[in-house]
Amino acid sequence: MKNLRVAALILVGVCTLSCQKTADPALEKQCHDQLGRVGIYLSLYEAKYHGYPTALAGIEKPDLCSDMSICHCPFALAGENYAYRGNEAGAGPGDDFVLAYDATPHPDGFRHVVYVKNRVNKLNETDFKKALEVK
Ligand SMILES: [Zn+2]
Repeated sequence: MKNLRVAALILVGVCTLSCQKTADPALEKQCHDQLGRVGIYLSLYEAKYHGYPTALAGIEKPDLCSDMSICHCPFALAGENYAYRGNEAGAGPGDDFVLAYDATPHPDGFRHVVYVKNRVNKLNETDFKKALEVK
């Protein structure tokens, strides 16, 4: 009887923990890694063509990105790719310039962004809006 009570308590604990999860950690990591790869391809493109592509689709080249599925956040709706603003970068954006980001926040309210030089951050909406103000 005591073992049953312990088992029931453990079960309740496990259920409570899983209900508190707001976003799947594996999908979070996937999004983070994908945006990092997008940043690498954008850097390679910039080095080769001396400027960022006019659209994110520009990284799809035989010698660059061959798997454009990395431009789609695992949390996003079908057909919604990362938002891109490298075309606003001008001649020489600083390291704190956000090149691409989650077009819509993840279920936990955060977004991943990738800066010049491939740095990826996870930001809440307040910090995200501030990050977009940096030129
Ligand atoms: Zn994402």
